[in-house]
Amino acid sequence: MSEASSQLLRTVLTTIRRGVELGGFPEQLYTLLSKPERVVSVTIPVRMDDGRIEVFEGFRVQHCSALGPYKGGIRFHPHVTLEDDIALAALMTIKNSLAGLPYGGGKGAVRVDPRRLSRRELEELSRGYVRALHWVLGEMLDIPGPDAGTDPQVMAWMVDEYSKIRGRFAPAAFTGKPVELGGDPVRVYATGFGCAIVTKLAAEEFLGSSKGLTIAIQGFGNVGSWHAYWASKMGFKVVAVSDIGGTVYDPSGIDVERAMRVVRETGTIYNYPGGERSRDTRGALYADADIVAPDALENQLTAENARLVRARLVVEGANGPTTPEAERILAERGVVVVPDVLANAGGVVASYLEWVQNVQCWSWGEEESRSRLAKMMESNFRRTLGVWGRLRERAAEATLRDAAVVAALQRLHDAMRWRGWL
Ligand code: GLU
Repeated sequence: MSEASSQLLRTVLTTIRRGVELGGFPEQLYTLLSKPERVVSVTIPVRMDDGRIEVFEGFRVQHCSALGPYKGGIRFHPHVTLEDDIALAALMTIKNSLAGLPYGGGKGAVRVDPRRLSRRELEELSRGYVRALHWVLGEMLDIPGPDAGTDPQVMAWMVDEYSKIRGRFAPAAFTGKPVELGGDPVRVYATGFGCAIVTKLAAEEFLGSSKGLTIAIQGFGNVGSWHAYWASKMGFKVVAVSDIGGTVYDPSGIDVERAMRVVRETGTIYNYPGGERSRDTRGALYADADIVAPDALENQLTAENARLVRARLVVEGANGPTTPEAERILAERGVVVVPDVLANAGGVVASYLEWVQNVQCWSWGEEESRSRLAKMMESNFRRTLGVWGRLRERAAEATLRDAAVVAALQRLHDAMRWRGWL
């Protein structure tokens, strides 16, 4: 564990280790979860628009299949490493188990800055990823979905390439597809929507009410923008937003739909007309708000800056945004952290609903999916709270993250016992 050079992997392994100890599970459970079942590392050659061939590094990590086929997104990001991908796959194992889904955990990645590629180059890369990895993918084997840097268009190219290779339409092998290819209309906003539901439930539970509370959001991509949108629909006031271009702070409230338009048209929230702005990409984390949502990437709240957080509640829309040291500092100050595996599960829950419809050749419509998604998020939240209460009777220092992990580990442990792995 100490050999990991990735902070994210250290964070995730520490989290699982704590869960195994607090839950009183056998050491063997940690051994099984501390390493992925299978890692496939590939190279993907792409002919660039200028005629050169560029070779990209790609991965698919299949972390644990105790509960079913591997499930998790594919990330296109210039700094992603294999160790990060392993950590993200392990988080999917925990997240899927906690949500009660019939899935194990997986994650894919390509080291690339997708914004630097032309549309044709991006298509070549997406198809190349599937050509390199199709033999380990499939609707009952490993089902990728979107993650940072990938979107419905990328998933469409992938499902098209996969279907051509298999010689049959295979929509259930990928989720996050456009609606015309079997996608679920809620999937595109599902992670942010789920975050907003959990924000409301957590505010009612820990801050007494959600009425008129303020929220600051770091990251305005697929997760942060929809988190802000749905939170404002639910009555929260969004007072700060940060993204790669900087921070906007407006105590009278940011108009989220306008902010989304500005980001679509200019590439950053920094150009939002109104409020105070700065070039600090983490400004929202320290804003004067009741709730702060790190919705960008991992390792944003660390031992160095955790003391600067003024909010009383942290809701993790990103995967792994808080290091264990930061979490300890926040806990000492009485700040509750709603962990990623609970807060941002809306994306994979919606992917599950999409997959269920695909395997049944059925489409039940947006309303029905949204209400199923909301119900599943609420029941995950309540179940985790129940576990937290029981856990704290034995271990006063247990956090809400510990409770979520213990609940997830229990299901994994029981499935492994039935299978004869433990
Ligand atoms: N990328 C999403 C996550 O981190 C899940 C992707 C999927 O739908 O499989 O939870």
